[in-house]
Amino acid sequence: METLTEAQKLLQRGEISSRELTQQALNQISALDGKLHAFLHVDGDSALEQADAADQKRKSAPEPVSPLLGIPLAVKDVIVVEGMPCTCGSRILQGYRPPFTATAVKRLQAAGMIVLGKTNTDEFAMGSSTENSAYGVTHNPWDLTRVPGGSSGGSAAAVAAGLVPAALGTDTGGSIRQPASFCGVTGLKPTYGRVSRYGLVAYGSSLDCPGPFGRSAADVAAVFSAMQGRDPLDATSQDVPFAMNFPLAHRERAGVREKDVETATTLQGVKIGIPKEYFISGIQPEVEEKVRTAILSLKELGAEIHEVSLPHTEYALPVYYLLAPAEASANLARFDGVRYGPRVEGDSMWDVFYKTRGEKFGDEVTRRIMLGTYALSAGYYDAFYGQAQKVRTLIKRDFEQVFAKVDAIACPVAPTAAFKIGAHGDDPLAMYLEDVFTLPANLAGVPGLAFPVGFDQAGLPVGMQLMGRHFDEAALFRLAHAYQQVTDWHLAKPGIS
Ligand code: GLN
Repeated sequence: METLTEAQKLLQRGEISSRELTQQALNQISALDGKLHAFLHVDGDSALEQADAADQKRKSAPEPVSPLLGIPLAVKDVIVVEGMPCTCGSRILQGYRPPFTATAVKRLQAAGMIVLGKTNTDEFAMGSSTENSAYGVTHNPWDLTRVPGGSSGGSAAAVAAGLVPAALGTDTGGSIRQPASFCGVTGLKPTYGRVSRYGLVAYGSSLDCPGPFGRSAADVAAVFSAMQGRDPLDATSQDVPFAMNFPLAHRERAGVREKDVETATTLQGVKIGIPKEYFISGIQPEVEEKVRTAILSLKELGAEIHEVSLPHTEYALPVYYLLAPAEASANLARFDGVRYGPRVEGDSMWDVFYKTRGEKFGDEVTRRIMLGTYALSAGYYDAFYGQAQKVRTLIKRDFEQVFAKVDAIACPVAPTAAFKIGAHGDDPLAMYLEDVFTLPANLAGVPGLAFPVGFDQAGLPVGMQLMGRHFDEAALFRLAHAYQQVTDWHLAKPGIS
């Protein structure tokens, strides 16, 4: 499967039809998804029908058509798409078919993208490995014995293995960036409020952000620009125009177009901060080494590098693991066996609630509901929830202070490359530690972009994270794109594809 930008070119030149592109994706899914289990649902017939309509539109359109017309997309199964089931990786929503489509998906469909299917996720997006999915784990395309990361592991694996050129995920504490890093693809957690949450099944409403995965910064930017923007159906979404202020021309494999490279790779005047709190002991040495090498490449391209400090970083983990479960405990109250999905019958209304929730929620979701309910209960609210909110403000201020001095922050995405399936077994704390470098961006609401910067000795991808000012995704794309013009890590493909 081509990258999105390559597919665009082939479509525009008439060298491939959308039907052929979609059929190619469906063939790849049939050939590889038995091993990967990236998809929970695929609707080939409807996709091919939409592909034919896209081809027809391209033929008959007098005007230049949308650059995304006829390009396949996969959607994480916590985002609703009319006509497809939405399970959220949970048995409590088995068989549920939502009667509407999320705004972000609707916008991409309006731009011509074709939703092929729904991808695997940790139950209600709670996890860092997809091992919490009630429907089985997704395997990392680079090493099938390892996790793809999570919770948007299905989407990341699908893009990495070349099943689709782009996919949507959601990021509440790292669920787009960490799987992007583990699978060697590019993934964006947008600014909170930049992409509508309408139609995203809520986990932590003050943290949740839908965002795209692709093979390169250019591909991710193309999808992002079509899905973002104010939506009257999400009161927290904001109206801030998004514009790329630099060319996103892809380097052609045969014959680099010098002019594009020159304009795109000049990072003169860009200031990048390296937070000392993100290079701590316990981080896999090769991860640190690859990230530091990538920072040097940015420097060679003209960027200025400064050491900075985000002093409250160590509190991000405890703060997140109070606030996210607190919000989840309220959001998940709606799953009661009456309104959505299957029901376990009981003697009374309360008994139905009790039995349905008790039997259908998995262990991690149950743990979070209990933690969150406790943190919100009378007598404990101030000590836990209230305190966590105050520390969240301090974390936010750390970022404000740093972004007064630099344009972006560069750091690792996760302390390690992809771990083995089962490695964290019954140790939820070890799993939570995977998120140390990604949680702060969600607490502060700032955007974060993850992209590959090399491989460790086991041949597993290593990712770097760039964080930016609120609503300045363009700065992150500019940096990552410049890096991808002079390196090839993002073009590497796993053996399985
Ligand atoms: N791993 C984190 C959690 O389990 C983040 C998940 C996410 O971003 N959805 O909550």
